[in-house]
Amino acid sequence: PRDLYGPHRLNPLGRDYSIKSAREQADKALTALNPVVSGPIIGGKLVTSAPSTPVASPTDSSVLAGLVHNASHADIDRAAELAKQAFPAWDEAGGPARAEILRRTADLLEADMDRLVALLSREGGKTLTDGVAEVREAADFCRYYARLAERQFGDAKPLPGPVGETNSLALAGRGTFACISPWNFPLAIFTGQVAAALAAGNAVLAKPAEQTPLVAAEAVRAFHKAGLDPRLLALLPGDGATVGAALVSHPLIDGVAFTGGTETAWAINRSIAARPGPILPFIAETGGLNAMFVDTSALKEQVVDDVLLSAFGSAGQRCSALRLLYLPEESADMLIETLLGAMDELVLGDPADARTDVGPVIDAEARAALDSHFKRLAKDATILGRLDPGALAAQGSFFGPVIAEVPTADYLEREVFGPILHIYRYKAGELDEIGKRLAARGYGLTLGIHSRTDRFVERVRALVPAGNCYVNRSMTGAVVGVQPFGGEGLSGTGPKAGGPQALIRYAVERTLTVNI
Ligand code: GLU
Repeated sequence: PRDLYGPHRLNPLGRDYSIKSAREQADKALTALNPVVSGPIIGGKLVTSAPSTPVASPTDSSVLAGLVHNASHADIDRAAELAKQAFPAWDEAGGPARAEILRRTADLLEADMDRLVALLSREGGKTLTDGVAEVREAADFCRYYARLAERQFGDAKPLPGPVGETNSLALAGRGTFACISPWNFPLAIFTGQVAAALAAGNAVLAKPAEQTPLVAAEAVRAFHKAGLDPRLLALLPGDGATVGAALVSHPLIDGVAFTGGTETAWAINRSIAARPGPILPFIAETGGLNAMFVDTSALKEQVVDDVLLSAFGSAGQRCSALRLLYLPEESADMLIETLLGAMDELVLGDPADARTDVGPVIDAEARAALDSHFKRLAKDATILGRLDPGALAAQGSFFGPVIAEVPTADYLEREVFGPILHIYRYKAGELDEIGKRLAARGYGLTLGIHSRTDRFVERVRALVPAGNCYVNRSMTGAVVGVQPFGGEGLSGTGPKAGGPQALIRYAVERTLTVNI
């Protein structure tokens, strides 16, 4: 993968918050952070004509992270017109020219790391380490897609043919992409979608999640500062029902990239299908029902570390996160005891404090959904452990991690997005049935396996489809170019983000045959 980044390092440098100066730098960035103003950014200008709404921090509802002006239909029309004007020259410019701008964007994001981490923490409730990982991932996407743009959107690839005939295949942009991104990676996934669409030669109308419009505005500013024709990238904040719906049904849209819930993906798909005119590409990355299977040969400490990180890291708000843990009945008691002990050591608290392991969930609505699932668990499962958020619960949208033992292997029908881990003890003879039923739910995102026996690993892999399978490690934190990320079935359409095929669906393919 190093080669794919060209002259750049594989990843931007991170931050080591065990070092005092790094913590002080983080504190300074947070203190210096002013409320950010977001809104439609059209032709490089922030449009503030609509009334603004406050964006409160999930950590403390009395802290203002910034203000957002939502986009109107007229804003969308204007942005789409500008995008259409600017597209041909950008497409014509070719991959290498576009790569330069993407690399400059990556450099700007990297240089602004401390401020962006502070904003991710304030707006998105991200811990400092999650924030750093996110800025790094955003820069990785830009550099990785820059390299793909050079390789795949440079000169046409010669193809064989009879004597007297030359054949070649070239990729080109499609036009304008609507990119709709989630709040759980408000910088990395936002930037990843935009960078992919731009790398392939498209213009972009980007709608950030309504919970996180601020850091998205900073990302757009970075692309523009890097020299991108501002008409090629507009920010259009607003909610899904209005701005999202208007975008995906807009007559000037040539494709849609979406990351978020499966239900929303269905709705977008229907909306695209109902449009007259060309059949548009739809790239969706959606939810999962992610399981980890452990056998008796697994190493206890490793299982415990990886389970806690996979289930409770980022407060369980990753679509890759572990939801269902299958433990062999022979070692379940011992593993559960160690897990509960280790869970008690987790620090639930202010995400901007370097000691914090688990921050808040994104908002009151997310917490209410978790509360209601917890009530259901309290009734028909066994709550093995729970961290009490105490006074934090009144201050922000904190929800303490939960470990519950469920009565049946297929108790969980759909993704519950937050720090709730469901454990089921399986008997050796049950494995095939469990795997089949899980597969029948139709998801296929991440899968974890902890085992020292190849046969067990192969058996579970064969039973449970998954776009990303992790053996003897945590099952979150896919790295661009290393674990191309994305699922199958109800979990998404592919191609994988951060993988070599990522740009294909953002492009059209054209052959040229010349008879000499
Ligand atoms: N790529 C992230 C990971 O591997 C998850 C992305 C998401 O939650 O949408 O953890």
